[in-house]
Amino acid sequence: MTGSMGVAEALERIKAIVGPKGVIADAAGMAPFLEEERRLYHGAARLVLRPASTEEVAGVVRLCAAARIPIVPQGGNTGLVGAAVPPEDGGAVVLSLGRMNRVRAIDPVDFTITVEAGCVLADVQRAAEAADRLFPLSLGAEGSCQIGGNLSTNAGGIAVLRYGTMRDLTLGLEVVLPDGQVWDGLRALRKDNTGYDLKHLFIGGEGTLGIITAATLKLFPRPREVETAFLGLARVEDAMALFARARKASGDQLTAFELIPRLGLEMAMRHTPGVSDPLAAPARWYTLLEVSSSQTEGGLRSALEALLTEAMAAGLVEDGVIAASGEQQNALWRIREGMVEGQKHEGGSIKHDVSVPVSKVAEFILQASAAVEAKLPGIRPLAFGHVGDGNIHFNLSQPKGADTRVFLARWAEFNHLVHDLVQRFGGSISAEHGIGRLKRDELPRYKSAIELELMRRVKRALDPEGLMNPGKVLAPPPAS
Ligand code: FAD
Ligand code: ZN
Repeated sequence: MTGSMGVAEALERIKAIVGPKGVIADAAGMAPFLEEERRLYHGAARLVLRPASTEEVAGVVRLCAAARIPIVPQGGNTGLVGAAVPPEDGGAVVLSLGRMNRVRAIDPVDFTITVEAGCVLADVQRAAEAADRLFPLSLGAEGSCQIGGNLSTNAGGIAVLRYGTMRDLTLGLEVVLPDGQVWDGLRALRKDNTGYDLKHLFIGGEGTLGIITAATLKLFPRPREVETAFLGLARVEDAMALFARARKASGDQLTAFELIPRLGLEMAMRHTPGVSDPLAAPARWYTLLEVSSSQTEGGLRSALEALLTEAMAAGLVEDGVIAASGEQQNALWRIREGMVEGQKHEGGSIKHDVSVPVSKVAEFILQASAAVEAKLPGIRPLAFGHVGDGNIHFNLSQPKGADTRVFLARWAEFNHLVHDLVQRFGGSISAEHGIGRLKRDELPRYKSAIELELMRRVKRALDPEGLMNPGKVLAPPPAS
């Protein structure tokens, strides 16, 4: 469709396409779609649209293009950088994919599953399991985040070490482009070298280049044996030395390797019922590690025990437990989840989701902690995360008793301090959560001019009118 159309006419035609079930227009109904969990951003929108099929999405996008109405795609709205919140000016529509939640196909022979973008991650995991397969993406928000959001943020989580990020788990995509054309790229091929790999533009694209409507994803053999250990260590350097040993000892059976500081365990214990310290004496650092095998006689437990005995003899580990049952495994993982939840009850928290080369993790944590403590005595650094991937959630809880607003007003100052250090270590200022609004103005400080220009050219080529999730990742171009 070319030419322009009035906004009112376009909206009427859009309502007719999606039908009454596909429109939310009242303030109370729209409210949850206009802000995110951290409440850093609060937007406004003309309507929230909930199309039920790719054809409906394409119809909506064509009309929005004709009337120049910006579109903000939204999945489970669990993202942590404000990327799914519409702009404050109220000119956009939110396009929520939640009704597109069908598993279109599952192929245990090809080890693939084809799902619509609105499928909740946990439902995809369950569908794979029902076919005796594993879909390995796993993260705290899995009960509500959606595949389209996982793809658009290139989500990571706790099993990246073994299975990779969403980018690694994707074979094909179906995308509605900013002009309303549908690109059917739902290929299930493991090998396909026929030019530029276009799906990777949309994966991690944060909804700025088009709307993902479906994906063909990789499945894996289901683990038959899983062992989980929680170990106490004196120094963060020991955690990384242990990681190297664990990797060597267990090869690709090491599935997760998470770092937890003492403060994290304390926060989990203070605020999550049922979480307790699994070890007899406090340690300064902990690692939560998991090994898994798709064979029933994998000998995992004895291998893990041998690793621990050796690590304790070498003075790397002070004490540790290996879960004796599935229930105990869950209890150990509850510490990890409880720590994330617990931070919310400890006042303001300035967040950093960064990565450095794995070999530099310990040095980075030590230097960054010293730098923030020098700037604000009493600040409580909480360095945790997927350190097996070099990914540290370097969160800073306010000093006890401090004024939360005064502390949070220093967000940008602490970001610069930490991100400058990350850059010196050759790292990234967004390991897994994306750029969105939160880090948009921070990005030009760290990306090279040529990378930023290439990103702008890609954006202009695919979305010349700038209607797809405007103002996210890249600042909007100045009005001409
Ligand atoms: P949303 O928040 O709805 O959207 C995120 C972005 O994707 C926005 O830019 C939006 O416009 C875009 N988008 C959504 N759907 C589409 C679509 N169909 N087409 C185009 N664009 C779309 N993230 C990790 O990577 N690893 C973790 O370990 C992790 N743990 C978390 C734990 C908790 C408790 C919480 C609350 C969040 C966590 N996250 C984590 C962040 C978040 O869950 C992920 O980024 C998730 O992938 C977002 O999915 P969503 O469906 O909620 O997306
Ligand atoms: Zn994470």
